Parts: sequence; C-alpha cells; structure tokens
Amino acid sequence: MNTCDVVVIGTGPGGESLATRLAGEGLDVVAVEAELVGGECPYWGCIPSKMMIRAANALAEAQRAGRLGGRTEAQPDFSLVADRIRREATSDWDDSAAADRLTRAGVRLVRGRGVVVGERTVEAADERFQARLGIVLNTGTVPAVPPIDGLDATPYWTNREAVAATEAPASLAVIGGGAIGLELAQAYARFGTAVTILEVADRILAVEEPESSDALCEALQSEGITVRESVSIDRVDHGEDGFTISLSADEVRAERLLVATGRRARIHDLGLEELGVDTSAKTLTVDDEMALGPGLWAIGDIAGRGQFTHVSMYQAARVGDVLLGRDPGPYDTSLPRVTFTDPEIGAVGLTESQARGQGIDVRSSNTEIPASSRGFIHGPGNDGFLKLVVDAERDVLVGATSAGPSGGETLSLLALAVRAEVPLDVLRNMIYPYPTFYRAIESAL
Ligand SMILES: Cc1cc2nc3c(=O)[nH]c(=O)nc-3n(C[C@H](O)[C@H](O)[C@H](O)COP(=O)(O)OP(=O)(O)OC[C@H]3O[C@@H](n4cnc5c(N)ncnc54)[C@H](O)[C@@H]3O)c2cc1C
Repeated sequence: MNTCDVVVIGTGPGGESLATRLAGEGLDVVAVEAELVGGECPYWGCIPSKMMIRAANALAEAQRAGRLGGRTEAQPDFSLVADRIRREATSDWDDSAAADRLTRAGVRLVRGRGVVVGERTVEAADERFQARLGIVLNTGTVPAVPPIDGLDATPYWTNREAVAATEAPASLAVIGGGAIGLELAQAYARFGTAVTILEVADRILAVEEPESSDALCEALQSEGITVRESVSIDRVDHGEDGFTISLSADEVRAERLLVATGRRARIHDLGLEELGVDTSAKTLTVDDEMALGPGLWAIGDIAGRGQFTHVSMYQAARVGDVLLGRDPGPYDTSLPRVTFTDPEIGAVGLTESQARGQGIDVRSSNTEIPASSRGFIHGPGNDGFLKLVVDAERDVLVGATSAGPSGGETLSLLALAVRAEVPLDVLRNMIYPYPTFYRAIESAL
C-alpha cells in the first residue's frame, strides 16, 4: 500500500491544476490518468475547436473585407488548420510536455484507470494508494450518443474525429444544435463543407435565450447552412455514398456525420456505489465545497454545475482551498458561458424564462448591436443583440446575454454585475467608452 496526502483521479483542466497547486504547497499528490494529461479540453475540445474557429472566422472576415476595404481572394485550405491543431495545440496528441510539467511540480503521475476501492483508497495500475486527506474525482465526460436505429454500426464522428480531421468533407450532417455542434458546423461550413444541422428540439441553442437561437439560426442560414429544427430521426445508415439520415418525412445525405448530442459523465466505473454515493443521476451531487462525502470530492463536468473548462478550474481552486485549510468563500452560481459561433453568444446567470420560473419579478431589455454606434461602424458581421434580465424588486441584473462580435468579451462586465449584484444605478452611472461594443449595455439599461 502506497500512502500519500491526496489522490486525484482524472487530470482534466481542474484535476491537473489542483494536483499542481497542492504539490507546490508541499503535499504528496498522486494523479491518475487513463488517457492524456489535461483531458478533453486541450486535445479534443476547447483549444483545437477554437483554433478551427479562428481560422474559419478569418476566412469569413476576408469575405467581408470585399464590402469594406477591397476585394480579397480567400481560398480555404483546411490543411493549414489541421496542421496547426497537430503541431501547436496537441503535439500530435502527445501529452509528454503536460506530464513533465506535472511531475516537475512534484506530482506522482500514475498512468491507468483509477477506481475507488474504499474510503480514501484508490487502485490504479495494479497499485493501491491510501490518501491521508482524500480523493478528488475529475473524470470528465464522453459523448452521449442517442439510441437511433442503425447509428451504432456507422463510422460517425464525435468531437474527437471532428477536430482531428485532416480535410474538410464535401458535406456534413450534424445531429445536435448545442454549442459544440454549432461551433463545429459553422467552422466546417466556412471551409466549404455543405452543412446540415439536425435539431430535435424546436430551436438550436435551446438552453439559451430564444433571441440567441433566432440570431444564430439566421446567421447560419445566411451562410448557406441548412438548419432543421423539431426533426425526428428514424434511423441512420452508412454505405459507399456516405450517410443517410432518415427523418420522419424525408432524408438527409452527407459524406460525414457528426453526433453532438451532449455529454455523458464518467461516474459509473469508479467504484462509487460501494461507498454509498448515488450515481443514479446524470451527474454527481456535490455541496458548495465540491464534497461528495468525507474525504471525497468531485470537480468538473461530472459535478453537474456546468460543463466548461473554467468551471472545472474554479471548482479545483475551491477544493484546493479546502484541502489547504483556507476558506473558498461562497460559490459563484452565475455560470458565465460562451458559444464561440459568429455571432458569439455570451451569457451569464438566468435566462428570462428561468428567472420567471423562479418567481422573480422580471424586467428585461434588449438592444440590437447593428443599431449601436460600434455595430453601425462595424458593418458586415455586426449581427447580435444585448439582453438584460433584471430582478425588478431588487433592481439588480440576474442574467444577461451579449451576442455579437466579441460577445464573449463584452460579457465580462455583465458577468461581474451579475456575480456581485451591482445595483443598476451604479451600472447606469458609469462612463462607457465610445464607440465600444459594450456601450450597448448603456442603451439596454
Ligand atoms: C468540442 C468541444 C469544445 C469545447 N469547448 C469549450 C470551450 O470553448 N470552453 C469551455 O470552457 N469548455 C469547452 N468544452 C468543455 C471542456 O472541454 C470540458 O468542460 C473540460 O474539459 C473540463 O472537463 P473535466 O475537467 O471535467 O475533465 P475532462 O477534460 O473530461 O478530463 C477528464 C480526464 O479524466 C480521465 N479519466 C476518466 N476516468 C478516469 C479514471 N477512472 N481513471 C483515470 N483517469 C480517468 C480522462 O482520460 C480525462 O483525461 C468543450 C468540449 C468539447 C468536446
């Protein structure tokens, strides 16, 4: 039996940063990793997808330049971004540098699958580790694949194949109109792929404001992307001609099929049931210090408080504070988030309907970016809006959406306002630099 202070199972962004911090503070930390140190985000998620989006956006801007500064000839070349993803983002899916960083920080890295076999006890790579302080779970998610007839037998893509592709297919069907599906759909379309998005719900980006769904749907369609909402998918087949997706009334054909219908938490093969932890829900239920029970914490996508890298790292910082005997402070429930499409959809806090559902006396306000000073100057590519959701009784923002060019950056001020419950009077009594996109906040107020 090996002893240590803490075992971290899974080194997603949160687990990696937590293990590094604790080792830096002198604790004896064991990190168990079954695949690549760093998890989904750097190898198959945020970083490669945003590299693809950066390239795709440059192509779109080059086209817009024709209406602004002169004719440009942009010839999409997917090999450039594929190469950048291989060399700069993922080192060809080699985590040696990240693993070295971890071990240099003093963490004992164990390659293999970790299982909890008792209180504060983990088994991995045929060894047992007894953790004096406890275990932190950061095992992340895998793609959730819907039970559609025939789908399992086909070579469909998940996010992993989509970001590792070396060429853009001639056509792509995307099942799932959430953030991941939409970001990849638009990026591929800008490289010349004929894209069809199939969404079962009555609108894409259904977790955000309906105005976000409308603005994005319009923008995607204006680029030639087919968006089909409220579809019912009967079966999927694959043959020499590619994929056939049979819908209730017709069918969609495509060379490639991307399934982006959400994520399934990796919580069922960890031995948690033996410890009496309830794994019947989609994610685990933790308290504000991310504790599942004595000496056991969960962070990141499995913790059910938002599946984002920044959330994983925020939660890692909280567990780090607890383990180091420091007060992590109150949990930030505002959940700022960005869908990196064009227009970029930044959102924080509650949507209007969520706020009403909580019995809040809501006032809301919406201002269009093209009508704002900066939006007018910007011209092509200025689609978007800024929406504020106000608790009228307390006169504070409880939610906001900033959709448009740099919508994720504009969100920063709104995220602070929601998080800190800044009185609207203070927001009104501020100078908003002219002509910035975030000046639209003043108009919305
Ligand atoms: C295409 C795509 C784009 C995304 N874009 C963004 C974005 O722009 N911004 C953003 O904030 N988020 C984004 N996300 C989400 C983000 O990637 C995740 O929220 C983030 O990776 C945090 O996950 P995590 O910390 O829970 O663990 P993960 O990153 O999922 O890592 C978990 C790790 O645990 C390991 N593991 C699992 N089980 C075991 C076990 N039993 N033993 C040992 N190791 C184990 C896995 O191998 C993995 O390395 C994106 C995701 C995808 C798929």
